[in-house]
Amino acid sequence: MLLQYADVNVPHFKRDPVKRHLADMRASLRKGMKEDIRLASFLRQKGVTETSLQQDDVVVKACRHISFQSGGTNALAQFDAGMRQFEQTPKQWDINDLLNNLKTAVRSFRKSNVYFMGIANLDSFADQSNFIFGTAENNGHHAMITYRRFTADFNGENQNRERLVERTLKQTLSSFGFMLGVQRCSTPTCARAYPHNLSEHDAKSTSLCTACRIGFEQALGVAMKKTEKDQQ
Ligand SMILES: [Zn+2]
Repeated sequence: MLLQYADVNVPHFKRDPVKRHLADMRASLRKGMKEDIRLASFLRQKGVTETSLQQDDVVVKACRHISFQSGGTNALAQFDAGMRQFEQTPKQWDINDLLNNLKTAVRSFRKSNVYFMGIANLDSFADQSNFIFGTAENNGHHAMITYRRFTADFNGENQNRERLVERTLKQTLSSFGFMLGVQRCSTPTCARAYPHNLSEHDAKSTSLCTACRIGFEQALGVAMKKTEKDQQ
């Protein structure tokens, strides 16, 4: 393995939790104003109209007025705390944007026996998924993993570098295998088994099952050294 510096252009994020939350609030405010005359007139008194709700700050203002009206300062504080939580939720990148930019950045280093793996401390998704840990060109030369969801900060856990390295290593083996054309693995303890969530990911070992190891060896044309951690 070789670590080499390449200037990768980081694309713009595609999902913003605050924007999504504002869109939901905007929709329910509009619905409420249509169906509830008292709510509509209360908001109009506060200077909120259907048209002005296009602006994000007006949506927030309207919700704050409603919170205060219904539950006083407590409800207002709760609303503000909820907004802060959305603001702290990481933005999400489309992992295919990241993969494409990686491909562009490493084009001049390409060789038939060289595989490129990008690793970023970001959160990502693909298509309609809520999140994704990594992706790879099947039988290709490029893979991308994003490890923001493995970090202690993201999960409100105590800092633990070893845990972060293990989580990242498992995802690296998984994505690297796809890049080599090794089939998806269904042995639950194998590092490459598909996890539905982080606890399933944590439950896997950091080593490969026999089938995956053979797949890696065939694709790379080398014998991999077995360690005592490896599965039989
Ligand atoms: Zn396996």
